[in-house]
Amino acid sequence: MSAHDNYVVMVSFDGFRWDYADLYDTPTFDAMARNGVRAIRMIPSFPTQTFPNHYTLATGLYPDHHGIINNSFYAPELGGVYRISDRRKVQDPDAYFGEPIWVTAEKQGIRTASYFWVGSEAPVRGTHPTYWKTYDGSIPYMERVDTVIRWLKLPMDKRPRLILLYFDEPDHSGHDYGPVHPEMGKVVEYLDEVLAYLRGEIADLEYGDRVNLVVLSDHGMASVSPQRYVNLYDHIKPRWVEHITGGSPVSLVDAAAGCEDSITVSLNKVEGVMAWKKNEIPARLHYGSSPRFPDVLLMADSGWSIGTGGDPSVYTGGTHGYDNAFTQMHTIFYAEGPDFRKGYVQPDFPNVEVYGIVARLLELKPARTDGDPARVSGMFSTPD
Ligand code: AMP
Ligand code: ZN
Ligand code: ZN
Repeated sequence: MSAHDNYVVMVSFDGFRWDYADLYDTPTFDAMARNGVRAIRMIPSFPTQTFPNHYTLATGLYPDHHGIINNSFYAPELGGVYRISDRRKVQDPDAYFGEPIWVTAEKQGIRTASYFWVGSEAPVRGTHPTYWKTYDGSIPYMERVDTVIRWLKLPMDKRPRLILLYFDEPDHSGHDYGPVHPEMGKVVEYLDEVLAYLRGEIADLEYGDRVNLVVLSDHGMASVSPQRYVNLYDHIKPRWVEHITGGSPVSLVDAAAGCEDSITVSLNKVEGVMAWKKNEIPARLHYGSSPRFPDVLLMADSGWSIGTGGDPSVYTGGTHGYDNAFTQMHTIFYAEGPDFRKGYVQPDFPNVEVYGIVARLLELKPARTDGDPARVSGMFSTPD
């Protein structure tokens, strides 16, 4: 590491919809846009869920290519259903395909650190970030920032040049209140303060002018209502279904032998839900080719919920997971620092580009991705 190398700090605020900075008071986000890059919208990958998208951000691969095809999916080779609440599965390196950016960096001699980024708790390809933590959502946000700053103040031979940092808000409140609600304003304004603290501490570092700060998210949020609910078993027979994983708004179905057509034909007559057989999923979703994909994809229509019985009153507030063409699923991308233009507005782009952006900032030789760097080349102030 040389005294002139640049750093990258990449922060995710889970479920930060593309327009929250317009709906709520966010002076720090606005200052970042003036002093750097703001994308109009970053387009998440399908399904617009937390684990698939954070791991897409880390690898530049669509969920179909990186293995985390939903927040839960049936994977007999991992010993059953992968679930984000199952610590053993989350920490199993065999769950994760592709090469996350911290592995690319570590392989090329650059130290990395992760404060809760999806995938970093597993030794993917035998490699953890140099510094990483087991997920614990109760750690106060400001304490996470303090740790990141401590990492940036380590002696040069121990200091990471790439730091990833995760916060589970505003997603959590977005589920409770829906995206447009006075309580959401309070949460987003607090996140703006967290960002202000991080940004101020970075500016105070001796080499703060060599830190590129990237702030983004995994997906947006849409309002749901018990009035827009489809009970799948009102329309299909339980014996047509071998396994069903996921939930609302995306479920993955292993059909009983020969029952794929019965499921799709029956559900496609129903308002609020769409069903596709594996080979008929629209190409724009880049979905269904993973060896982990079963037979049928079920997707609720925008703002609708699907389930297999139970109390529909749980479908209040907000959710995500829908079609990534649905604008309310779109999310944020901000960046500032020595390698970014100032006041640049980046047109919409897919989140498979983020791995390549970070690889470029750190001058890494990238692994193969689903991205096309030409889509985002306008955001840089420095030549490739
Ligand atoms: P969801 O809204 O269901 O897509 O998932 C968001 C939730 O994922 C957050 O509220 C976090 O609690 C949880 N989460 C994020 N990262 C991790 C992790 N590394 N391990 C376990 N849970 C996580
Ligand atoms: Zn999320
Ligand atoms: Zn969520």
